[in-house]
Amino acid sequence: MNHELSTMNCMRLLIIICLTWLTTNVMTAQETKQNNNTCKSSSSIAGDEKSNSEYIYRMMQQNRTRGLATMSSKPLIVFPLRIGFIQHTGDKGDTRQFAISRTVDILNEAFSAANIEFYIAQIDVIYSDLKIGDLSLGAYELYDQFSKEHDLDDMITLYLFDYDGQLCEESGGGVSCGRTGGFSYILSNRTSNIVLSKFDLEDYKVVVHEFGHFFGLYHTFERDQFGKELISGANCAKSGDMICDTPADPGPVYEVYVNYSKCQMVGYKDLDEQVNYAPLINNYMSYYKPCFMKSYSFTPQQLEVIRTAAESDLRTRFHE
Ligand SMILES: [Zn+2]
Repeated sequence: MNHELSTMNCMRLLIIICLTWLTTNVMTAQETKQNNNTCKSSSSIAGDEKSNSEYIYRMMQQNRTRGLATMSSKPLIVFPLRIGFIQHTGDKGDTRQFAISRTVDILNEAFSAANIEFYIAQIDVIYSDLKIGDLSLGAYELYDQFSKEHDLDDMITLYLFDYDGQLCEESGGGVSCGRTGGFSYILSNRTSNIVLSKFDLEDYKVVVHEFGHFFGLYHTFERDQFGKELISGANCAKSGDMICDTPADPGPVYEVYVNYSKCQMVGYKDLDEQVNYAPLINNYMSYYKPCFMKSYSFTPQQLEVIRTAAESDLRTRFHE
């Protein structure tokens, strides 16, 4: 009897352990689908990204043919920034404004290699009940409408939005979490702004990443606009992010292959290519987490795109 009881108890315990394990697994499975700290930029929503990018690549080609000056000898380009601080209509006062100068410092550190500098020229408080997650709903209609209402023509605005108070939701026995860090159209004339979550004001990557988009950079794993880049890099100039010193990147779905201590993707290849992927894990335009003891960076050719975009008539109206 005693033995039977303890067997029953044992089985009960096992069932409970199994259930717990299953629940944990469901939760893990759901969590891996999350887009934490994600940039919501899409490569073709504004409509003019492709033609503008092609224009920039032609400019770069011409500069190279003419043997124009290297980056370091080029004059400093200064962009005044307007900060659009989004405040909810009912809210009084603000607790996070102190961090804005740090945000611009982070930006300047990254863009100094292209001899580009930003400074805060104007701060406007904009009353709106929109949160950052609302802007990308649908086909970015709310974002377009907001931009039309609030953008200035001749100054880049950095909008600072609140994020959803509740970043995780429980549903069906699992938890689903998500957070948008920011976004910007890629080298588009449709808007004159970059959007950032107040959560990421002091993040070392998000603000730089979004300004990277504004100045013509695609994600390193981009494949929608110009097609897939081969791991071999054979088609690097005309596919992926159109940049040859950023190796092919399979994207954040394959993050499990990343060793963050080595800052390398290990052992992942496509079925049709016998070469391992070796994306730049610590690149500003990738989607990976920070590598241990290694800072983020742009490649020389990414800096060339940024610089060329800044010099082009797509962006000169924003210069000082
Ligand atoms: Zn992005």
